[in-house]
Amino acid sequence: MSTTLIKGGRVVSATAEVTADVLVDGERVLALLGPGSGLAENADRVIDASGTYVIPGGVDAHTHMEMPFGGTYASDTFETGTAAAAWGGTTTIIDFAIQSVGKSLREGLDAWHAKAEGQCAVDYGFHMILADVNDQSLKEMDMLVGEGVTSFKMFMAYPGVFYSDDGKILRAMQQAAGNGALAMMHAENGIAIDQLVAQALASGRTDPVEHGLTRPPELEGEATSRAITLAKVANCPVYIVHLSARHALEAVAQARDTGQNVFAETCPQYLWLSIDDLARPDFEGAKFVASPPLRPKDHQDSLWKGLRTNDLSVVSTDHCPFCFKGQKEMGRGDFSKIPNGMPGVENRMDLLHQAVVDGHISRRRWVELAATAPARMFGLHPRKGTIAPGSDADIVIYDPAAEQVISAQTHHMAVDYSAYEGKRITGKVRTVLSRGEVVVDGGEYFGRPGRGSYLTRSTCDYL
Ligand SMILES: [Zn+2]
Repeated sequence: MSTTLIKGGRVVSATAEVTADVLVDGERVLALLGPGSGLAENADRVIDASGTYVIPGGVDAHTHMEMPFGGTYASDTFETGTAAAAWGGTTTIIDFAIQSVGKSLREGLDAWHAKAEGQCAVDYGFHMILADVNDQSLKEMDMLVGEGVTSFKMFMAYPGVFYSDDGKILRAMQQAAGNGALAMMHAENGIAIDQLVAQALASGRTDPVEHGLTRPPELEGEATSRAITLAKVANCPVYIVHLSARHALEAVAQARDTGQNVFAETCPQYLWLSIDDLARPDFEGAKFVASPPLRPKDHQDSLWKGLRTNDLSVVSTDHCPFCFKGQKEMGRGDFSKIPNGMPGVENRMDLLHQAVVDGHISRRRWVELAATAPARMFGLHPRKGTIAPGSDADIVIYDPAAEQVISAQTHHMAVDYSAYEGKRITGKVRTVLSRGEVVVDGGEYFGRPGRGSYLTRSTCDYL
């Protein structure tokens, strides 16, 4: 085992900032030492981190590598997507394994293990998408919790594909209440949305912006309230994924005020982009089609407030990239055929640092939202999400003064556009360690597929 000393950086955690040396032994953090303690002068390797932030590697709790959607696949594989994650300072992803209707959870999970095994550059875990709630799949939930898959996502949207009705959601939540799992909800009223989509197409409204107009924020608010009510009846904790609208946030905040175990995440696209991007001319809006859709700009202030008050506790990407050429273009002339999803796994840590620079959140809150809270939420803490003795040495050395411009020309995601093309960011990842090994340093990549390992997760740390 070799030792590494990360020397003289500003170690930022969710709760404190201290100038310290971080001593890494093999794959783990051994100790935080006072500056110049001399105890570690025999380290095999010394990394000078003066002038930088030393933070826990990012945990992106919501990605969809090579996910099938509408006859195509998300363009990042586990190999390319996890390499891009590493480039952007994210050292753990939690992806979604999918149960197909008529198949078991086991088959779905095995298929995702087969896709990811030997491919990932950083560590990874799985949530399970429950698409077919029945006696058998309910029993299988218990088994999966025992295997470290401790969160199950259901959809109130996409009738005929992933959709579960309220009865099925209630039954799965009751099962989760018994086995300690966290229920995750895609909360949009898909039954009503499908009517609005059909009406738009029938009247010749086919442009990408219609994707947003046919999924109004009220229908996210309604579904969020309904999910929270079902969770209350089932006495089950619930986590609302990719919350985008003020209406939904109000429902979450209200439930949290009563003490109910309701949690929510939002995503960078809802904080920085808006329906104006979806309305870009010449079909360019298709680049911004994701569900829930980008909202009018005035929702952003509410989301920032939610991040400060902790009604939103996590920022994940919902990374689900489709190339503009050949994939997004499938929806020319019919917005409902545009594959839903946007790239972002590489940009999250930088965008959230920009939020620190812009005064939206504190540095510690940046670390908490991007690493510590998702690790705790999904049973990975203290192994992930913190720099503490015994934790995995997933460490990012971040230069807060570097300037960069986000662009598809320079990103590492396997997708032909950036949703943030041309955006200036203050701050940049300098060095990334994944379990003690340097995988990115000074603009060079040293990672490799198969270095990342599968993470067996414990249950939610906030209950
Ligand atoms: Zn998603």
